[in-house]
Amino acid sequence: MNIEPKSPTNKGSADWFTGDVWVDPIAAPRDGDQRMIVGRVRFAPGSRTAWHAHGRGQTLHVTEGIALLGTRDGTVIRATPGQTIYTPPGEEHWHGAAPEDFTEHLAMLETSNGADAEDGWFEHVTDEDYRAAAGG
Ligand code: MN
Repeated sequence: MNIEPKSPTNKGSADWFTGDVWVDPIAAPRDGDQRMIVGRVRFAPGSRTAWHAHGRGQTLHVTEGIALLGTRDGTVIRATPGQTIYTPPGEEHWHGAAPEDFTEHLAMLETSNGADAEDGWFEHVTDEDYRAAAGG
């Protein structure tokens, strides 16, 4: 057992995020059939992911601020620190900060293994759709 070296904080790619988002890798597979990926994600107010889906689902645990999450059927979840949100495999969704708060969550998922478990990334969440999710 060992204390892991701190991984650099990475700026979220503009291909996958709108606004300023920073990701700290916490855990990643290193050998054998390990699959666990954990990251700390920090969102500036109003920032969010693009639409996407995870081949093996995703668990998000809010640690700071107010998180907004949306799915294609129009469902919007507003989550606060201590709350955990589960997204099943393949469900298209986005997540990010409320307009008025920095927000942080832990993102926990498994690596894909085969085409049917690949993550998919789609279009950005428009300002109009984001404002609607945030309550106008
Ligand atoms: Mn996600």
